[in-house]
Amino acid sequence: MNSEKIKYLVAKYNLPKFRINQFNDAFFKQRLTSFDEIKTLPKALRTTLETDEQVLSVSPYKLFSSKSKKAFKALLKLHDDALIETVLLNPKPDLWSCCISSQVGCGLGCTFCATGSMGLMRNLTEEEITDQVLYWQMSDVLKSLGIKLNNIVYMGMGEPFCNKKAVFASLNELMNPSTFNIGARHISVSTAGIVPVIKDFADTFPQTNLALSLHASDDALRQELMPINKPYPLEKLKNALDYYLDKTNRKIFFEYTLLGNRNDSIPTAEQLVSFVKSIKKNHLVHINLILYNKTDKDYMESQKTTATQFKNHLINNGISTTIRKNLGRDINGACGQLALKNPIKNASVDNLQLSI
Ligand code: SAH
Ligand code: SF4
Repeated sequence: MNSEKIKYLVAKYNLPKFRINQFNDAFFKQRLTSFDEIKTLPKALRTTLETDEQVLSVSPYKLFSSKSKKAFKALLKLHDDALIETVLLNPKPDLWSCCISSQVGCGLGCTFCATGSMGLMRNLTEEEITDQVLYWQMSDVLKSLGIKLNNIVYMGMGEPFCNKKAVFASLNELMNPSTFNIGARHISVSTAGIVPVIKDFADTFPQTNLALSLHASDDALRQELMPINKPYPLEKLKNALDYYLDKTNRKIFFEYTLLGNRNDSIPTAEQLVSFVKSIKKNHLVHINLILYNKTDKDYMESQKTTATQFKNHLINNGISTTIRKNLGRDINGACGQLALKNPIKNASVDNLQLSI
């Protein structure tokens, strides 16, 4: 459900314009999950809508919750039976964040990422993207606690900038005051580095956060890890980042997944320092080091001491750096694990509660 669909329903059933506010209120404020619950609508209309229309374009297939109850993963089924995954995280007492997918699979084939090995099946529609957020808002997890999501990250399955039209439309909808009403600064989009779209994003959404998946600062290594580095090598990326920072003057986040013995040595940290220093407004760069989450790929996690040394090297060179907290590992809801075919088989069953 989104404002487009509400407009469509109003037109299709020839309803007066004031019904728009009633629908907005029902779905986005009261978080009602069926047409039948909207008591402001006449009974006959409720019955017709209930029979002929769907509130959500996604339907829950399985819901997993981590033992800590701070991470939940939903497998959602689409109209064509494709499955996507979305994750709800509660990293701090007052922070509820959801991670959403933008495509079924991903065509960019990063060699350490489980979604990459699926290939691209299809793009999600604008409604399928925002319905992941609405699904969580309507879920018992949030609704029963009276909590609203206050942070959205496009870091699930897929490359958002390879589905620009629907992703840009979904961003506008998430910020729409009549529906989701989420502030631009509470939304982050992560890209593997689609250079022209980074520039479009800077022009169109200068207040929304951008995360760039870097993972290596040497073209040969980056290309090995991320084939997209071939059409968009580091020099082009750097230019796009300069453009973004000039336009927005906002902090930018680099994601750097530490892969044991591949990109976690001090010489690679030095390359990373040089790359960051080559960016004009490099004081705006923040590096998020991510610990590698196990997939079926042949990579291993960095040693704890190696990760700390890598981080300290960056900090000692004046670069703001943190190691990202890993929530949701026991449900394979952590970064890059979203595509694992059988989440139950790949996780300890003790740590999982299957709720649907
Ligand atoms: N396609 C986008 C957004 C989704 S991936 C992108 O690549 O930026 C979200 C983040 O998880 C990216 O930084 C990605 O590189 C990282 N990631 C992928 N697989 C991972 C894994 N196995 N362990 C840790 N991080 C991973
Ligand atoms: Fe696609 Fe991002 Fe995974 Fe790369 S890391 S394959 S871009 S989802």
